Amino acid sequence: MKVPFLDLKTQFKTIEADVRARWEDVLANTSFILGPAVREFEQEFAGFLGCKHVVGLGSGLAALELALRTLDIGPGSAVLLPANTFIATALAVSGVGATPILIDMDPRTYNIDPAKLTRFIEQHCQDDGSALSVSNSCPLVSIRGSLPRAIMPVHLFGQPTDMDEILAIAARYGLRVIEDACQSHGARYKGRRTGTLGDMAAFSFYPGKNLGAYGDGGAVATNDDALAEQIAMCRNYGSKKKYYHEIAGTNSRLDSLQAAVLSAKLPHLDEWNAARRRHAERYAAGLADCPQVACPVTAADRDHVFHLYVVRAERRDALQAYLSEREISTGLHYPIPIHLTDAYRDLGYQEGAFPETERAAQDMLSLPMCAELTDAQVDYVCECIQAFYAGE
Ligand SMILES: *Cc1c(COP(=O)(O)O)cnc(C)c1O
Repeated sequence: MKVPFLDLKTQFKTIEADVRARWEDVLANTSFILGPAVREFEQEFAGFLGCKHVVGLGSGLAALELALRTLDIGPGSAVLLPANTFIATALAVSGVGATPILIDMDPRTYNIDPAKLTRFIEQHCQDDGSALSVSNSCPLVSIRGSLPRAIMPVHLFGQPTDMDEILAIAARYGLRVIEDACQSHGARYKGRRTGTLGDMAAFSFYPGKNLGAYGDGGAVATNDDALAEQIAMCRNYGSKKKYYHEIAGTNSRLDSLQAAVLSAKLPHLDEWNAARRRHAERYAAGLADCPQVACPVTAADRDHVFHLYVVRAERRDALQAYLSEREISTGLHYPIPIHLTDAYRDLGYQEGAFPETERAAQDMLSLPMCAELTDAQVDYVCECIQAFYAGE
């Protein structure tokens, strides 16, 4: 039995007629840039999230960057983010000229560890009264020449971060909170959707995400009218009215054809996420008596949307090869932690700086996960994993 990592073809068949009809509309109106399809999706997604504004953008990375820019975070600023995340979170920070500061993960959630975040701030940037803190609202001193301005929690693999703790730390130290919700479309923390919990949030609509377009796309969500207006201007050359430029903006707009796909998919998102949760429960049950594999755990106060189903496995590389021989596709998220990549060597972190993240890079394995998986496929994956360890 073949088990793909992700099956976009089967999903497309279920929405094909709707997508084609919506594309016909866009083509007939030739409203390719910021047309009604984009406005409609922005309103629908804001309604789905329960927030005031959604601004459609060109990608998730652009959403993170524009959020930072709009909060005036650039050279001279530092941003605290998890060491265990997709590199785009850090790229956004360095992309605006700010300094990424990494914090190790909590091995239970794979997300930023709030206790380690607090400890870092207390040890490295708390005001000792010797000046340097530039504003009264921000009782922090600079670290490596940059002043911490924001925390960027990532709801990694679809599991919401401990937001109460993050928001309390942010309030205590006068930091902004920008959620990286690029893997958590539809997830809830204490009843509220991720992407509505901080000052601003970034979403990606890369095809493989829980809500994915048929090309690149992204969005910022916020409840702040002024920030939303700023972003909307920034994405469109810094103008509200064509050729009247108020700020030096950029070009990063959600494409109308992509917005049409997202509008077709959005009504299905909760049901698709529920299917992912069912598959996750089936995996956990099927692997319960396999001590070599640890399945993810979800805290009771949040809804995980399992963008990825990531287990910790003994002899991970051998298991992955064994599964691959049996036509089961798996993934590594992520094989090399950000601080050990060539791209970020000049941040100056050494091996051993983030032990939990580094350990996870050695033993994490992402099993096939998408709404369209069948029970038989999940069972087959579990049986093959059992067989691998039984044969040792
Ligand atoms: C996908 C992703 C991004 C970037 O999104 P793009 O649309 O590919 O630019 C950022 N952060 C995280 C955590 C992601 O998974």
